[in-house]
Amino acid sequence: MNLIKILKEEDIPKKYVDTPIGELIRYHNFNMPFKEYDTAQILVGMCMDNRNQLNMPPNFAYIIRTGGGNLRYSEFKVSYAIAIGRIKYIVLFGHNNCGMVNLVSKREDFVNGLCELAGWTRERAEEHFMNFATMYEVDNEIDFVVNESERINAKYPGIEVVPLFYNIDDNLIYFIQY
Ligand SMILES: [Zn+2]
Repeated sequence: MNLIKILKEEDIPKKYVDTPIGELIRYHNFNMPFKEYDTAQILVGMCMDNRNQLNMPPNFAYIIRTGGGNLRYSEFKVSYAIAIGRIKYIVLFGHNNCGMVNLVSKREDFVNGLCELAGWTRERAEEHFMNFATMYEVDNEIDFVVNESERINAKYPGIEVVPLFYNIDDNLIYFIQY
């Protein structure tokens, strides 16, 4: 899989030029002046990570933020954005250095942090980690977001679902070639 850097209009794949996906790229990567929107144009799924911040206008997008951009436990909200919000496009972001990768290695810090900051007992914190870590673990950020996009696309065949990559080093959106 290759990441494609988008620095100018010609870098946007033709099929996305006249879609809200092209608009999102122009707002975020090219700093295009914001247009006004009365209704949402797109649903964005992305990681809760604080280093991921999209530059886009008010009313432009529904946003679902989860660990790793995992939508497995957010499908009712996806359905809502489609059925009630009438959006026809979904983009799903993966990003580099994602905390959901190799979650198991963070077990001790996770347990210690809950005990120290939330006032949990060690036993409760360990059980919590064991119950949920496997649900949110991501092997590889890019593979995950491509697979997750395909899964969502299969579930909602009338909707275009596109995986994208957010680079936290240059804060730019990249297309994923796969
Ligand atoms: Zn992340």
